[in-house]
Amino acid sequence: MKKRFADVIIDISHEKVDRPFQYKIPDSLQEILEVGMCVRVPFGKGNHLRMGYVVDMTDTPDYPEEKIKQIDRIETENLPAEARSIRLAGWMKHHYGGTMIQAIKTVLPVKQEVKAVVQREVSLAVSHDEACCCLADAKAKHQVGKVRLLEALLPGATVSYSLLTGKLSVSPQTIKSLERQGVLRIDSFEEYRNPIRFAAGAEVKKKLTPRQQEIAEGFLADYDGGDRTPALLFGVTGSGKTEVYMEVIEGMLARGKQVIVLIPEIALTYQTVLRFYRRFGDVVSVINSRLSAGEKYDQLRRAKEGKVKVMIGPRSALFTPFEHLGLIVIDEEHEPVYKSDTMPKYHAREVAIQIAKMTDAAVLMGSATPSLEANYKAMSGEYKKYELKTRIGAAVMPKIEVVDMMQELRQKNMGMFSRRLQEEMRNVLAKGEQIMLFLNRRGISGLMSCRACGYVYKCPHCDVALSQHRNKMVCHYCGYEQPRVTNQTPCPECGKPYVRGFKMGTEKVEEYLTDMFPGARILRMDADTTRQKGDYEAILSAFSQGEADILLGTQMIVKGHDFKNVTLVGVLMADISMYEADYRAGERTFQILSQAAGRAGRGEKPGIAVIQTYKPDHYCLQHCITQDYDAFYEEEMAYRMLMDYPPAYHMLAVMLTGEEEKRLDSRASMLADALKKSNPDVRIIGPAPASIGKINDKYRQIIYIKHAQTDVLIRVKDRAESIIKANEMLLKEILITFDMDPVHAY
Ligand code: ADP
Ligand code: ZN
Repeated sequence: MKKRFADVIIDISHEKVDRPFQYKIPDSLQEILEVGMCVRVPFGKGNHLRMGYVVDMTDTPDYPEEKIKQIDRIETENLPAEARSIRLAGWMKHHYGGTMIQAIKTVLPVKQEVKAVVQREVSLAVSHDEACCCLADAKAKHQVGKVRLLEALLPGATVSYSLLTGKLSVSPQTIKSLERQGVLRIDSFEEYRNPIRFAAGAEVKKKLTPRQQEIAEGFLADYDGGDRTPALLFGVTGSGKTEVYMEVIEGMLARGKQVIVLIPEIALTYQTVLRFYRRFGDVVSVINSRLSAGEKYDQLRRAKEGKVKVMIGPRSALFTPFEHLGLIVIDEEHEPVYKSDTMPKYHAREVAIQIAKMTDAAVLMGSATPSLEANYKAMSGEYKKYELKTRIGAAVMPKIEVVDMMQELRQKNMGMFSRRLQEEMRNVLAKGEQIMLFLNRRGISGLMSCRACGYVYKCPHCDVALSQHRNKMVCHYCGYEQPRVTNQTPCPECGKPYVRGFKMGTEKVEEYLTDMFPGARILRMDADTTRQKGDYEAILSAFSQGEADILLGTQMIVKGHDFKNVTLVGVLMADISMYEADYRAGERTFQILSQAAGRAGRGEKPGIAVIQTYKPDHYCLQHCITQDYDAFYEEEMAYRMLMDYPPAYHMLAVMLTGEEEKRLDSRASMLADALKKSNPDVRIIGPAPASIGKINDKYRQIIYIKHAQTDVLIRVKDRAESIIKANEMLLKEILITFDMDPVHAY
């Protein structure tokens, strides 16, 4: 449909995106004008032609028509750097919904004056040999802070003071005392710089294995040949994927190109980043949520000026304004954090591919447990696929054992630890090696299960657990519901009255452990022990320095860490995530268990993983034991196809939130009915209450829309947006968000 008016933003002042002005679209442009385009418009009293961006188009003017000026022309030459970002924002708005302003705010860095904070840097003031002596001395005296400090500086690095006292938990006194002894020096300056700097090449490059070499060379050869097919690097944990990325990045830098490396925030640890700094020196920069807006802006400016060539960061690093982007790397591609949880709810993988299309760049993503989406595309040829099947050097994949907790119960072991796991723990502790214990606490509050036999209440129509609500149990995928069972209800499976909502926490396990192994040193890592900035790194760093025997934690401990002395990984309850009220529960369980098991035996010593479960026959576990991703993929994909779930099908979640329950319900029903009427060929499910029915006193209703084609869902979404607008729903204090192919259930 032709639109006659366009809303144009004249100045993209980054502080806050300015109010749009309305212009007439001349007949000659009606067919071609698109949201996101750069235009020239008359502005102000003198009607000087100014540059602006189209953020919306409409047929109903906001002012008397005769007062509205007309767009002069579409600008196509000498576009400012922002033009690409705005065009990307236009694509994101089209694909994921929401307003253009939301999309622009996502892709454009916030402009903020960087306050001239004085920064301090620490570096060695003595020779390498002298520093080594100091280090040996500190080690002998068990001065762990001093050891950490010297080890950070020894490769010849300049490290920011705040990084040392923060992430590396070195005390100011330690730094001061070494400064007084003349071992190190502290320099002050006013500009924001990288928290760590090396002279480039401080790290001797590893000689790649023939397979690593082959992959890196193949990828670069394809790039030179103009092949921009996105690539999936499927390599088991510890197979050397990061080394492959670095080799490819080096090739890109040699071609004068710039690179974005996405890493899940939680894996953005000192160790990971350090590898990149050492290899590439000062052209590397890092963006993370701990940087202030000013620091972030400053980093992006340096990127734009070409001073930074490799930007590492979480999802938002995608929007680094490189002029010569050559490659986007996405590590741990399967991680759900790559999906934004605010509007526009974009997926970094999809946006990366879109950016690559716009800039003629390549995309390389890697994982030990690829998402179903990525593997599906690799199978269909939409992506190319490289494999690394073995670990590097002497390290072998850990042996994985499954313990049936039902058997334990029958043998009168009522505790949280099976006899097998206890035995292994005792062995490992006796040998002075380390243990990681993993408690999967995700989504456990929702489901109802029997303590006696492990039975879980599930939807009869979908393979997902029912979620508890006030007085009923509900399936969020098909709307099925039944009355909620009480504590007296006999279990449908074994008849015993032990049906309960599931809860089990890390604190409880820690108490248990202390009783069982009084001498063992235990570190606990969960949401409670990582509240403060730097807590996370402090715990990991202490564990890697051997300051504890056991690291106990939630899924935050399973990501990407490389502890060579860990030879036992215990998973205390593998069932939980399998019955989350989520069609992705199986995928997530397989990923988490594989990643957890992958923490064991990364050094010279072989490792073992013990997984405790009530469902030893579950296909996720079975394929995890044999580490057979392909078999898992086939079984999981068959289920997705049968049930029309992504990636076999596409799914759009429309979420409505509001404070007044009744009004929200009626609006949600109205929207769903209107959509059903206007799209009889599309499956529209709901509305139903979201699994967390109320957050912050706001009720949540959800509508799911399914179709084989994304384009059809985009059309339905556009239709929903115009229904919402026509009925002034948003004005009624109801918030509506869209989520295309959500990575979790609502
Ligand atoms: P992944 O990213 O697949 O988990 P990494 O790249 O982190 O694997 O490699 C695992 C370990 O093996 C790291 O300690 C890394 O330094 C080492 N490594 C990787 N490639 C080589 C190689 N070609 N030669 C020697 N060591 C290597
Ligand atoms: Zn169902």
